Amino acid sequence: MKNWVTEAHQDESITALKKLVSIPSINTGNGKTYPPFGQAIADCLAEALSICETLGMKTYSDPEGFYGYADYGQGEELVAVLCHLDVVPEGDVNLWDTPPFGAVIKDEKLIGRGSQDDKGPTIAALYGFKAVVDEGAIFKKRIRFVFGTDEETLWRCMEHYNAKEEQPTMGFVPDSSFPVTYAEKGLLQVKLIGPGSSDITLACGDAFNIVPGRAEFQGKDANLVHEKLTKIGVAQTFDGNLITVNGKAVHASVADQGVNAINQLAKGLVHIHPHPTVNFLAEKVGDETNGLSIFGEIKDEMTGELTFNVASLSINEKKSEIELDLRIPVSFPIEDLVKILKEVIEPYGLEYCEFDRVAGLYVPKEDELVQTLMAIYQSKTNDLTQPLTSGGATYARTMQNMVAFGSRFPTSESLAHQSNEGISLDELFQAMDIYAETIFQLCCE
Ligand SMILES: [Zn+2]
Repeated sequence: MKNWVTEAHQDESITALKKLVSIPSINTGNGKTYPPFGQAIADCLAEALSICETLGMKTYSDPEGFYGYADYGQGEELVAVLCHLDVVPEGDVNLWDTPPFGAVIKDEKLIGRGSQDDKGPTIAALYGFKAVVDEGAIFKKRIRFVFGTDEETLWRCMEHYNAKEEQPTMGFVPDSSFPVTYAEKGLLQVKLIGPGSSDITLACGDAFNIVPGRAEFQGKDANLVHEKLTKIGVAQTFDGNLITVNGKAVHASVADQGVNAINQLAKGLVHIHPHPTVNFLAEKVGDETNGLSIFGEIKDEMTGELTFNVASLSINEKKSEIELDLRIPVSFPIEDLVKILKEVIEPYGLEYCEFDRVAGLYVPKEDELVQTLMAIYQSKTNDLTQPLTSGGATYARTMQNMVAFGSRFPTSESLAHQSNEGISLDELFQAMDIYAETIFQLCCE
């Protein structure tokens, strides 16, 4: 396979990446008034589209400001590259050795928020494309770079794109690791609403995607609850008034590695203050992080077991509420699980209220797209790492026949969302060469 990338491409790509990284494209908008995610994201989108124009592409900017894209080539079929331009906040500036939006090059690395997630990979794909164009290759399919603007929050950009724009035939998402990620679990976040209580007042838990590390109870017969918890071996502190159950907080996608403080509290509480919501937790969840008592075994070879997290529990005089976060193996339709869950909660008088649902990603390993990308990656790197699966999420799942592909290498340090986020120039250029070959094979052969 040929080397596509010249020194000129390398130099131009660094200039372009510096421009993107120096724009602090953190979401500051409300998603409603224009620009929906703030001026910096709008500026970054405009800059990305202007770079695409210098590369000979035809650009389009969504008048509502949710997304933009850049097209090249001709033909029936459309190959898409899905990128995002928003970044997470820089965090504590004192933890950075160089300014977070300085785009400083130090030790052969370009440093700045977004350099790895996802501006560096975006630029690698764009200049990979440029290298193919510069070779005079004929595009038999159209290529489209789609730029999303709220990947780090609610993906409203992709919702708008999918509602209004052409669907690609296939494509890839440079927002993950090499080699190919072909399967990502589905996501379901739900609230279960039930009756209130005059005996129990509770407000435990934080975000859907976190296993609660602590749960507090105070109120009627707290000493009896404390005794019961002690008897069944639940770790807690009790000051005569307030019980604090101590668990272990972890991300919901690895719920089995944590200890859910709410579930622990419920195991004791149920004996002293029976209440439909507490009973549900004690009888149908207990120590389980795989939803076994509710759904039976939900597990597949590709993406493993269901993860089931009770993220929060609140009870007051008026109502009670549980928040659940489920990560669902790709071969199980989310709808089937919803049906079972509704049946199981019904006798407890709980009402199902959906908060968020995102289908998983699955493209078979035998699929031509996966095979093509794997062959390119292997011949370019001699690395034989097998295709990957993930509990995390990329844009790949928003469209058919898409996979995540790079641009982090298995050996790269993962610095996304951290201080001193940076991308090694060597890796940037190597990814660029892999993307050039990919674009050539997908669009020109
Ligand atoms: Zn990303």
